Amino acid sequence: MRSDKKIKQKFPALFIGHGSPLNIISDNLFTQNLRELGNRLPKPKAIVVISAHWLTSGTKVLSSKTPRMIYDFYGFPRELYTLNYPSPGEPELAKKISQRLASYGVVREENWGYDHASWAILTHIYPQANIPVIELSLDYGFNNWELKPIDYHFQLAKNLAFLREEEVLIIGSGNIVHNLGKIDYEVDAPIMKWAKELDEKVKENIINRNYHDLIHFQNMGAVSNLGIPTWDHYLPMIYILALWEESDSIEFIHEGFQHGSISMRCFSIGLLEK
Ligand code: ZN
Repeated sequence: MRSDKKIKQKFPALFIGHGSPLNIISDNLFTQNLRELGNRLPKPKAIVVISAHWLTSGTKVLSSKTPRMIYDFYGFPRELYTLNYPSPGEPELAKKISQRLASYGVVREENWGYDHASWAILTHIYPQANIPVIELSLDYGFNNWELKPIDYHFQLAKNLAFLREEEVLIIGSGNIVHNLGKIDYEVDAPIMKWAKELDEKVKENIINRNYHDLIHFQNMGAVSNLGIPTWDHYLPMIYILALWEESDSIEFIHEGFQHGSISMRCFSIGLLEK
């Protein structure tokens, strides 16, 4: 006999390597894969983006009803500064997150908006911009100069797991290998050896669920210092790994490089097969 009782399906979660703001207006394999991903994803009630471009003292959650656009990039074509991603905010969800993560001191912030870690990718995944979006910042310890260990972020992120049961899509937006001092200005430049080596080590550690070496990334050798000179673009991946449960599948949605050394690797956890 068929049961009408619906089994509660956990929502997938994503890590997206966002790369250059030029992807916003580019038609390439990366943006095509994001669009295809958007067609496969269930429609969430809301989206929470952990942003590599929102670094704060303590962790903040965006609680504005109508978040403003933030064009946090310089020297790009004028067209980019005229684009909008008009999704509404979701103050109630922001409040809930701040309450559930109170022990981590997560507080609401109205004065941020959508930086390009969120809207640059959402414009391809959900081009209709009709799902509420909020952002979560990365605690970068500015006031007391105390950068929290990566394990702190890993533990904090575990507390976001309830969102997956409430039809909320969680996206970490950064880049696994990201050293702006080492980029080639040509978007399709040959891939640098060290960048490829690090990206492959990270992939292998993800597949093997070797969280220890992903958290203590220096264990991956000298290439890790080149590819992860600062933590801002690496940390969003840690948040998604923290949400990866035993029963969740993993799928690499996109693999590749831009500017010779920026890893555009993206993955989903818990996404149903094609
Ligand atoms: Zn970025």
